[in-house]
Amino acid sequence: MTARLLDGKTLAETIRGELAVEAERLFARTSVRPCLATILVGDDPASHVYIRNKRAACEKIGITSRHLPLAADVSAARLLTEIERLNADREVHGILVQLPLPEHLPTQAVLDAIDPRKDVDAFHPTNVGLLSQGRPRFLPCTPHGCVQLLHRNGIEIAGKHVVVVGRSDIVGKPLASMLIQKHSTVGPNAADATVTLCHSRTRDLTQLTRQADILIAAIGRPEFIRAAMVRPGAVVVDVGINRIDRGLVGDVAFDEVAEIASAITPVPGGVGPLTVTMLLANTLTAAREIIGEVA
Ligand code: NDP
Repeated sequence: MTARLLDGKTLAETIRGELAVEAERLFARTSVRPCLATILVGDDPASHVYIRNKRAACEKIGITSRHLPLAADVSAARLLTEIERLNADREVHGILVQLPLPEHLPTQAVLDAIDPRKDVDAFHPTNVGLLSQGRPRFLPCTPHGCVQLLHRNGIEIAGKHVVVVGRSDIVGKPLASMLIQKHSTVGPNAADATVTLCHSRTRDLTQLTRQADILIAAIGRPEFIRAAMVRPGAVVVDVGINRIDRGLVGDVAFDEVAEIASAITPVPGGVGPLTVTMLLANTLTAAREIIGEVA
């Protein structure tokens, strides 16, 4: 392997250490511990693991959490009532509804019901709009993780051609929105990219991905990005998490792409740990805003 490994696990630990200090300082000044409320509908085992990890990560850095498990057949009305209750609860600063929801529930209406000031996933239309206008309240967790991975590894984004494959509302679209901004709240040269956003209807994908200085894959297809799709020397960020027979793999064929890229994220241990870390950062931001201590 010739590419530099962009180690998300170690970076996540570093940033969590910084957040723990901030949480402690906030407590010293205000006697308030940030609190994240999580809602899980149904019994999906993967979702259970995600929630457990998020709550454990909170606890480690001095953020409290509250968990509300709901039955798989819960009505939309009951779920919306619970969200209203958490919206009104002054001791709760962040609200997270674990996705995906069962099919009978209206996901968009549920996410729209969360108070935008407590919307730590940054899915609410108000927060999507603020991000798009370059004045984010919260940065979306996975896109923010990608940008932190690049920025803290000294990889400049400004002026680069970034090709993002995948246009979901959770990853691709908000990531493109962050990267095209004139200024980044993450740090100098962490935005101002020229962005190409690709999807399943994109024609001649390889011709586009091969133009990327930075290639970001958020597709959900195991090892979809092959070496032939990557320009030698490009930086490759793999958001994908796919479970196959031999374990977890990303959207990038790691072994062959690592031979030609200049830097690459592993799966697992790349973007994943940073996603949870950015959720912690948003919960801290929400707590500060709600107690009137805007940083
Ligand atoms: P979605 O399924 O919502 O979106 C996938 C995107 O990939 C769509 O825009 C789709 O295009 C595009 N796509 C699919 N096939 C192709 C193709 N053949 N050529 C080009 N584009 C294609 O997935 P998510 O964005 O939610 O997740 C993507 C991956 O990232 C998954 O593996 C997921 O598990 C992982 N993930 C990882 C996270 C982390 O913390 N590391 C967090 C969130 C997700 P179209 O829009 O046209 O359908």
